[in-house]
Amino acid sequence: MNASGLLAEDERWLRRAIELSARSRETGKHPFGALVVDRGGRLLAEGTNAFDADCTAHAEMNAVRAAHASGAGALAGATLFSSAEPCAMCSGAIYWSGITRVVYALSETRLLAITGDHPENPTLALPCRAVFARASANCEQVAVQPTIAPWARIMASAASLNSGK
Ligand SMILES: [Zn+2]
Repeated sequence: MNASGLLAEDERWLRRAIELSARSRETGKHPFGALVVDRGGRLLAEGTNAFDADCTAHAEMNAVRAAHASGAGALAGATLFSSAEPCAMCSGAIYWSGITRVVYALSETRLLAITGDHPENPTLALPCRAVFARASANCEQVAVQPTIAPWARIMASAASLNSGK
């Protein structure tokens, strides 16, 4: 683990979450992707944004629901990787799922700076750590600055969301 709390294998999963966010964008959805990996390093589920079908269908919600439905049992020790910081709703779902670690790239603050007041992304500016701080069980959060190469493309995609393209 390095000083940021990032494990060596984390970058591979975070890159996959970013790939999923790009795929989501390519299908006309918001550019967010997430996945859940169990304590043994096994991929349990992936999720992309599906806001058009369900306003609660954020990538993290879809990944958590699919991981739970996978029959993997308790998700304690599992890690959720997300292209962007989970919102308060998704942080709640992560907490209730029993997932104990979250690794994300783009912070809610930076997302808000990119998307501004876009009507499809009225950012809920509450850091996930503020939600987890009120939880009775521990959930570690690792924020990764978006220096991973694909982020330049993804951030440009998020910016185009703001401009309505
Ligand atoms: Zn969310």
